[in-house]
Parts: sequence; structure tokens; C-alpha cells
Amino acid sequence: MTKIQYEKLLTPLDLGFTQLRNRTLMGSMHTALEEKNLDRLAAFCEERAKHDVGLIVTGGFSPNQAGRLYPFACKMTTRSEARAHRNITDSVHKHGGKIALQILHAGRYSYHPLCVAPSRIKSPISPFKPWQLSSWGVARTIRHYARAAKLARRAGYDGVEIMGSEGYLITQFLSQRTNKRQDKWGGSFENRMRFALEIVRKVRRTVGDDFIIIFRISLLDLIEGGSSWDEVIQLAQALEKAGVTLLSMGIGWHEARIPTIATSVPRAEFASLAKKLKQSVKTPVIVCNRINTPDVAESLLQDGFADMISMARPFLADAEFVSKAKRGESGRINTCIACNQACLDHAFQNKTVSCLVNPFACYETKLILKPAEQKKSFAVVGAGPAGLQAALILAKRGHNVTLFDKNDEIGGQFNFAKRVPGKEEFYETLRYFKTELTRLNVNHQLSHEVSPTDLTNFDEIILATGIKPRTPSIPGIEHASVVSYVDVITERVNVGHQVAIIGAGGIGFDIASFLLHEPKQSKEHFAAEWGIDLDMQHRGGLVKPKQKNTLKHDVTMLQRKSSKMGKDLGKTTGWIHRLRLKHDKVNMLTGVSYEKIDDAGLHIRYDGTLHCIPADTIIICAGQEPNRDLLTAVQALNKPVHLIGGADVALELDAKRAIRQATELTLVL
Ligand code: FAD
Ligand code: NAP
Ligand code: SF4
Repeated sequence: MTKIQYEKLLTPLDLGFTQLRNRTLMGSMHTALEEKNLDRLAAFCEERAKHDVGLIVTGGFSPNQAGRLYPFACKMTTRSEARAHRNITDSVHKHGGKIALQILHAGRYSYHPLCVAPSRIKSPISPFKPWQLSSWGVARTIRHYARAAKLARRAGYDGVEIMGSEGYLITQFLSQRTNKRQDKWGGSFENRMRFALEIVRKVRRTVGDDFIIIFRISLLDLIEGGSSWDEVIQLAQALEKAGVTLLSMGIGWHEARIPTIATSVPRAEFASLAKKLKQSVKTPVIVCNRINTPDVAESLLQDGFADMISMARPFLADAEFVSKAKRGESGRINTCIACNQACLDHAFQNKTVSCLVNPFACYETKLILKPAEQKKSFAVVGAGPAGLQAALILAKRGHNVTLFDKNDEIGGQFNFAKRVPGKEEFYETLRYFKTELTRLNVNHQLSHEVSPTDLTNFDEIILATGIKPRTPSIPGIEHASVVSYVDVITERVNVGHQVAIIGAGGIGFDIASFLLHEPKQSKEHFAAEWGIDLDMQHRGGLVKPKQKNTLKHDVTMLQRKSSKMGKDLGKTTGWIHRLRLKHDKVNMLTGVSYEKIDDAGLHIRYDGTLHCIPADTIIICAGQEPNRDLLTAVQALNKPVHLIGGADVALELDAKRAIRQATELTLVL
């Protein structure tokens, strides 16, 4: 008998009163559809249920007004609110899936002036000082959790997830840092955990025994004064007695200054903590954080780390994650690269969440792929992210597509991005595109620099020729010490010890990282660099970060603007890049003007005076211009011509925009 490839992952999980069809859980994600459009949320969930996700958990719904994430954020407080969820639960059940509603009270993380907390202590990431809950207020909040669970049951949910990690209200009660109360809800750990336990007990009493209660438990707070491991276990065992069905791990409070899910975090970095928890409880344990392939998920289950795998962003990147794994087509999975650019960054800006590699996510009712009414032949020039996505969609719609690139590999600038330490996941996107091009029989002609005569026999032409790096006009720019970021990242030049980087956008930061950081960090190395105690010998899991003895380069980054350096980097990841380079003593100069370059180095005006940076190597990362070399000649062919990606607009271009633009265009051609 042939062995099933992801045997453990695809094995049902028996919860006694109910069974989950496999061990995959789509972790809670706030998509902004919770407020904007529950029917679109239903379509999003349905697409994932249709493709075999075992259990879906919704984004967080507040049990009352005070707990909302921001003034008009979603809540589950009335029967009419519950009724509006029927479409969601029906859409999931229709496909044999199960779904739980997450109940999230944000406590002092609520972004409004009426927020409440165990004590009146402001969080470092919110402008609002919370009001202290009275003991009557605490009891009332517990009743609100139970009411939300009852309404969830009425709405057809199979269970609820009680959010007890990430620094939200329940964790604020658990921690000495945020709980200074002197009544029965504060003081000893027994008192501090009373709130969590009373919630679970009351919810269980309200919903009965045949309803899933997941508790999201913080295994590693990553803040000063966070829980000790003994406290984590004490809480987990008490929650078990109080009636939880599943324990789902959470890592890090939002105010922690340690990356927990960014792309630079090694895959399954924190999984050992789930294994540690599993040794102390009988309740099934769910592991999460930076698990993005079925292979990693399967190996965690095989090696006894957990009973179930929670993945959130990987289900934005590919709704068919589970069904592809089931069919033995894991090579076709569009893997989440943990960039946060279209998901978490959007959520924090209150924009609808989607996915850089899959713009269809959360747009299931808006972006619809249909066979083309009239089949045409298309030439797509340029196999960067824009051209690749365009070629795939056109081919899926039944058009005849030829994709050209002058390089000998597909990917365009992603071939540079993948070389940046901590961005190794970009290889996965290239693997996905390669597999799909072959599967869809797209004629792709590499090492083929297109000239207009190549394009005469096509019905329509898509120019996805990307960008050209900008060369600033600084006197002496032709000096031998001056190189482009492309020369550096492709290792075509030797970089000296003293380095100056002109331009501090995304590429300037990536180049500094390329020069200073090791590729593919091990789990241990990552933990040591950020001061994470995975053995939990210390409260909150914090230890002193390991200092580097020597630095390969002495780097100065420069920009003309006087605004904070890296201000336009991703909302949820920019701080990581800035902090890492600060640890590596990178000198960051803003508000400079470039005077000249000569044998002495880079001459600048800074703070009103002239300075010379004695750089051996000056790297230009000064933005980009559209590459439209072919445009005029191609327009002369008198055929429809479409510009996408960098070839269209280079300013502030990123892969998110390139892929979305390619998608929106090719769905209607
Ligand atoms: P490109 O990727 O530039 O592709 C254009 C393609 O056209 C190239 O392959 C080129 O060879 C081909 N071509 C040009 N002329 C011809 C011709 N005449 N004939 C045949 N082929 C031709 N973006 C993000 O969103 N997130 C990131 O983290 C990120 N990191 C980056 C890190 C680095 C170091 C770099 C350099 C870029 C990064 N980017 C990132 C930017 C992202 O890669 C680009 O926005 C994206 O690649 C643009 O896609 P595109 O398809 O428009 O152009
Ligand atoms: P960018 O973000 O636009 O930054 C360009 C930098 O060059 C700025 O610091 C700018 O600062 C400087 N500059 C512009 N014109 C200049 C001139 N004439 N002389 C000297 N300096 C000049 O562009 P990029 O760094 O090339 O990145 C390209 C795109 O790739 C970006 O839009 C980005 O979104 C994407 N990307 C994203 C990531 C990511 O992690 N999300 C990573 C890499 C790249 P001053 O004008 O103040 O000097
Ligand atoms: Fe993953 Fe990036 Fe897509 Fe978010 S936007 S789901 S991090 S690939």
C-alpha cells in the first residue's frame, strides 16, 4: 500500500463530541471584512472550507463596546449581529468544514479613549490610557464573553476561540506588568489567572459540553515581567480543568520588540514550546508561527510537537493549500513569504487585507477568473512578478501566451530579493511560478531579449519590462568606487570595508542587510541575536541579545529627506529592519546633500557643514525609472499594448502592486 504523503496532517482529530476532518486550522486573521462586508467574509471562508481546511477561526470579535480594537470595530453582542453571521457558518458547513468565532477583548490595546484594563497603565503602542475595570466591571466583562459565545452558537458556529495571548485583555490580567490590582483579580498568580478561568468556566456553562472552546494561550510573552514557564503550565492545567477543548499557542505581545512572524523568523522557530506544553497537558495542543508548507506541518506532527497545525497567512496565499497537499501537488502551493505587505500591513492601516502573492484573497467576489470569450495570442515581455502573473492568468483563461525574458531565469528583481538574508522565502514564489508555467504549457522563452520584430505575429502585447536603476547626477558619479546595488547583490564586485549607501528605501536597507547579515539563520542563531530564551528559564522568555564581535563592513546609509530613515518600509516590519541595522552600528544620516565623489570618498553637506565619508565602496540605491525602451517601437506595430509593473510606474513600485495590477488587467482581456 502506498504511504499517504501528509498522513498525520490529513488524519482527522477526534474531539469526543465532534471530529475535525484533518489537523489544519486556519488561524484568526482580522481582514477588515468583519466590519465592511460579512458576505465577502463568507466567500473568503467558503473558498478555504471548499479546499478542505479542518477548522477555520474568524478574526477577533469583541464581546462588548469597550473591547473593540477601534471605535467601529466588529463585535458580537446582539442577536441581530449574530444573525448576520449565518451566511458565514452556512458557507463553511456546506463543504464539510468547521468554524469557530474568535472572541477578542483588546483591553488597553483598544484604539479609543474608552478602553479598559486591569490597571490604569498605558501601553507603549497606544496613545490611550485605559480605565481601570471595577470588580463589578470585571464580572460584567466575563458575562459578555459568555454572551458572545452563546450568540456564536446561535449563529451556527461550531465553537469559539478565546483570545488569551498577544497582550490583549486576558494577558493583561495575567501579567504583573499590567495588573497591579489588589483585589481577587490581582496580586498572586492564582488571582491574576482567575479572569481567564472564570471566562472559560462561564462560557462552558453557557454553551454546553458539545461546543469547541479553543483557548489561545501565550507561551512566550517576550516582554519584561511576562509569565514564567511554571505560570504558563499552571494556567494551561487549570484551563484544562475549566473545560477548554483545544489549547492554541500564542507568541509575543504586540508591544514586544522581537520579530515573531516576519519573513526573517526561521520556519517553526517557536514550535519547541508547543512540545514542551504538550508534555504537561492532555488537551490537544495547536502549534503556530512561521509554518508555511505541508512538509514543515507534517514533520511537526510526526515528531510530536503538537496535535494540530495553525496557519493563517498561508491560507491567504493559497486557498487550496490543503487540497493541493492532499492531491500530492504541494509543489503547486503558492507559499506565503511572510512579507506582511498585503495582510498585516493592511490590517494595521484599516485597509482590506489581501495577499501579495495572491490578490484574489478577500476579493473572491470581486476578482473572478472566467474563460476568455475570445481567445487571442499574447506576448508578455518580461518575466518579473508582473509578467509572470499576467502570463498565468491569461493562460488559465484559455489565451495563447508566449512569455519572454532576456535573463536565463524567470523572476526579474525577485532574483535579487531572494538573495537578501531573511528573504529566502522569495525562492518559493519563483518555484510556484515555474511549476505553474510548465503545468499550463506557457511557452516561455528565456535568454531572449525581445526586439519589436519578435512581436509582429501576436494579437496583443503586454510590456512588463520592469525598471532601470536610477543614477543620480552627483559630480564624480563615474568614479571607480561607485557601484550599483545590482553589482553588489549579484556579487559582481568586491565591496570594501568602508561603505556608503546612497538612498535608504527598501533596496538601501536590503543592501545593508546583504552586507552585514548571515543568510539562512538557524533557529538558535535567530534566538541568540534577538535575546529569546526558548528554554523559558527566564520570565517572559527574554535574555540579553548576543553581541557580534566583528562587523564585516562599516556602513553609512544616507538620504536627502530629513524624515526618519526607513519611514516608508512596511508598517509591521520596518522596525525590524531599522533595529537590526542599529544593532550592527550602521550610521544613518538624513537631510544630507551630495557634493561630489573623488579618491577621498563621498563628500556631503550635513548639518550645514561639509563632511567626507572615506568610503572604499559607494553603492547607489537611489530609486528606479520605468524601463520603456521598447514602447515607442511596439506602439508603431498598431496592436493593443499594455504596460504593467515597473514598466508602467516605477515610483513606489513593489511586487504587491505589480502582481495586483497584472491580475486586474488580465482578468478582463
Ligand atoms: P521586474 O521584476 O524588474 O522584471 C522585469 C523583467 O523584464 C526582468 O526579468 C527583465 O529581464 C525583463 N526584460 C526587460 N527588458 C526586456 C526585453 N527587452 N526582453 C526580454 N525581457 C526583458 N518588492 C516587494 O514587494 N517586497 C520586497 O520585499 C521586495 N524586496 C526587494 C529586494 C530587492 C533587493 C529588490 C531589487 C527589489 C525588491 N522588491 C520587493 C521590488 C520587486 O522585486 C519589484 O517591485 C518587482 O520585481 C517589479 O516587478 P516587475 O515585473 O514590474 O519588474
Ligand atoms: P525607494 O524606496 O523609492 O527609495 C529610493 C531612495 O533613493 C530614497 O531613499 C531616496 O531618498 C533616494 N533617492 C531618490 N532619488 C535620488 C537621487 N536623485 N539622488 C540621490 N538619492 C535619491 O526605492 P528603492 O529602494 O529603489 O526600492 C524600489 C521599490 O522596491 C520600492 O518602492 C520598494 O517598495 C520596493 N522594495 C520593497 C522592499 C520591502 O521590504 N517591502 C524591499 C526592497 C524594495 P532621498 O530622495 O531622500 O534621497
Ligand atoms: Fe503571506 Fe505576504 Fe501574502 Fe501576507 S501578503 S499572506 S505575508 S505572502
